[in-house]
Amino acid sequence: MEYFEEAKVRRLLRIPELIAAMRQVLAEFSAGKWQQPVRGVLSQQGGFFGVMPAAAGESMGIKMVTFYPKNTELPTHMAVIALFDPKTGEPLALMDGRYVTEMRTAAVSAVATDALASRDAKVLTLLGAGVQAQAHLEVLPHVRRFEEIRVWNHHPEKAERFAEAHGIKAMKLEAAVRDADVVVTATSAREPILKGEWLKPGAHVNAVGASRPDWRELDDAAMRNVVIVDSYAGAQKESGDVILSGATPFAELGEILNGTKTVEPGATTIFKSLGMAVEDVAAAKLVYDAALHA
Ligand code: NDP
Repeated sequence: MEYFEEAKVRRLLRIPELIAAMRQVLAEFSAGKWQQPVRGVLSQQGGFFGVMPAAAGESMGIKMVTFYPKNTELPTHMAVIALFDPKTGEPLALMDGRYVTEMRTAAVSAVATDALASRDAKVLTLLGAGVQAQAHLEVLPHVRRFEEIRVWNHHPEKAERFAEAHGIKAMKLEAAVRDADVVVTATSAREPILKGEWLKPGAHVNAVGASRPDWRELDDAAMRNVVIVDSYAGAQKESGDVILSGATPFAELGEILNGTKTVEPGATTIFKSLGMAVEDVAAAKLVYDAALHA
């Protein structure tokens, strides 16, 4: 069985194809076409170990992912994905899952942004300056033409370095959010950093962090907007922003994509992303198929 190193995964994963695959898999998930239990999570020595299986059609696999927020030398998120042949059960490949996790998350936000943000969104704000901020900076311009991109980080010097490296603006928190058309929260915060009162009416938020039931990135006012989730079951089990604010999610992203739920034009929207195994398995299958045809 082949092992795909990160370098090989990087060579084979193309962003436009990944965005298209995420759009398809999210729609299929909400149409009940995938089998996927809610992620199992073990807590160990300051970190978390998540187990994420999924299967449908030609794809069957599992991601095993670690989240160690205090890592400084190593990445905070690392993963391995195993793919199997759903017809015979034969193991097909093992793959480094760090880069897949990084890029599929931003690709899913791109799908949400394309479906929910204003067509003429011009200002993008990134809260956080880590791996996900960088991935969103790379991927979101595939769905909107931003004229201004801002970044904030709780350690301002890191935001300054990030801004300089990418030719964007480092700003203070509230100023960065005010007037932004699209906001990404991608931090390891445990308390709210984004206040709803700062959001421009009609803004779209991709809320990527706070994947624990007692962690928050958004305050209650932000969560009183139209909340879209990747999965109802995941949000009710894992999202502190949903559980602790008492928000009732309006739809799954896949229902919006399928047209079974429609958001009023001009609504302020919050896409609460937690990440799902179907995304990892579909992205890993893209990589595997690309290697077969290379
Ligand atoms: P990184 O570790 O690369 O970056 C984390 C960022 O959060 C850094 O900018 C860090 O700043 C900042 N940060 C850390 N602690 C706090 C705090 N208390 N308040 C505000 N900011 C803080 O992680 P990633 O970019 O990979 O992940 C970001 C978030 O997205 C995490 O919560 C992660 O679990 C989540 N995630 C979600 C996925 C999904 O599918 N929805 C998939 C992958 C990740 P500094 O370095 O200066 O401390």
